[in-house]
Amino acid sequence: MRGQSGPPGNERSMIGLDVNTLFLVTIYVEAMLGLLLLFAWVQNSGIHAVAWWGCAHLLQAGSVCLFGMYGTVSDAISIDLANALLFTAFAVTWTGARVFDGRMPQPLYIVGGAILWLLASRTPFFAESMDARVLLSSGIITAYTWATAYEFWRGRAEPLVSRWPAIFMLFAHGALFLLRTPLSQMLPWSPTMQVFDSVWLTVLSFEALLFTIAIAFILLAMAKERTELRHKTAALVDPLTGIANRRAFLEAAQELSEQQAEDPRPIAVLLADLDHFKSINDRFGHGAGDFVLQIFADCAAAKLGPYDMIGRLGGEEFAILLYDAGRDKALAIGERIRLSFEDAASEVDGFEVGGTVSMGMAVCEDGVLDMSSMLAQADEALYCAKERGRNRIEAASLQMALDRAHEEMNPEASRRAQAHSRGRSHVARRRQPGFDRAGRQEVRHPALHRRPFRGHQARRRGDPHHADKDALPPGRAGDARRQ
Ligand code: GH3
Ligand code: MG
Ligand code: MG
Repeated sequence: MRGQSGPPGNERSMIGLDVNTLFLVTIYVEAMLGLLLLFAWVQNSGIHAVAWWGCAHLLQAGSVCLFGMYGTVSDAISIDLANALLFTAFAVTWTGARVFDGRMPQPLYIVGGAILWLLASRTPFFAESMDARVLLSSGIITAYTWATAYEFWRGRAEPLVSRWPAIFMLFAHGALFLLRTPLSQMLPWSPTMQVFDSVWLTVLSFEALLFTIAIAFILLAMAKERTELRHKTAALVDPLTGIANRRAFLEAAQELSEQQAEDPRPIAVLLADLDHFKSINDRFGHGAGDFVLQIFADCAAAKLGPYDMIGRLGGEEFAILLYDAGRDKALAIGERIRLSFEDAASEVDGFEVGGTVSMGMAVCEDGVLDMSSMLAQADEALYCAKERGRNRIEAASLQMALDRAHEEMNPEASRRAQAHSRGRSHVARRRQPGFDRAGRQEVRHPALHRRPFRGHQARRRGDPHHADKDALPPGRAGDARRQ
């Protein structure tokens, strides 16, 4: 900005840019950008930092306006006040960055630069030395600009792409201001100090104009990116456990199926359902139940590789997709998850909760992955794990498929089973639509499509933990842990 190094030159600079025109353009652009940011904030008032940044641009417009009045008003206004406003504008941008990442504004530091400048310029040393004043003003601007870059850097855990160009630009802008004094000594193309000042001023003014335009758009982009990220997170992440929700899991699984067609790898799906979870809720309260769900999500996520996926399908049911995992590897991972959860959920907040999990597993060793069919098979295996006493993993097998075919050929038994399950809550009943491999359109889960509410709930009539214990055919599928 021009006034920081003293009075502006009026003549045309060596690189052919008129400083006065640049000033007018800068005032206009700063004001427009400030209003644009404030307008954006009014539209989406959730991100207050945008309002701070809008005010910063308006303050800069005011400051450049005062600089431009040099010669027509007193130096106290066109130099001292103009600089004070400029420093405050940089401080407000920095405060916006703090607010953006949830930190509090620091009022003393906001006005600190301006006060320092006003006090220093009253001392004889600074009043007489132009170089010292340039250095001080540059130092203040650099300090605020780098502090802004640092605030954005501190918040880098939030994955916003536009955060990085903002950090880079702020750092570069601060560095340019800091180097202004030493560079001005080194530049060889200054026939006279007067013309040199003008050239340097023009370069800085031009850079400041470009910077102000670029940074306004980047800051706006950051705010928009955050809003989109939050919407996306709300749509795809389960708020209780922080893992993918059903929709996100199925979408990711669909993407994997497409990838699998090009580069076939063994894929395993584990369906996990916490055991007697209703009883945990009843005995220890819903809050403890929620905590147990979080414990499971944490235990499972900790055992997964970078290409594996986990999602909460609903209630106390989770799905895990293991990439490049054949039967043995998948069973080993599943066992690790089961044991670590059993250990972590045995005692919660001093209460003997004794949480355990049952899992059903299906594996696609090669060929084209049919996720719907895999989920249906894992579902069958999960039912089997429940039947066989819980806290175990069962792998889908040919025998299970034969059982299913048998039940389908015996509609009377199936009908009785459905009547039995009606009115009882179960994860299979809550199973939401699956997806169509051909397109992204969601369709009903094929297993449910064929036989609604049958399976685990119907079969667990023989479960010792449930009152209705009649006539469950003995489990025929192999116990995964024994195989
Ligand atoms: P099983 O061993 O056969 O799976 O029995 P279960 O008790 O785990 O299964 P059931 O389907 O009878 O009960 C599931 C319970 O999960 C019922 C529901 O209140 C509870 N539940 C569902 N979502 C949540 C949740 O987000 N938080 C809590 N605390 N409980 C939930
Ligand atoms: Mg359960
Ligand atoms: Mg359940």
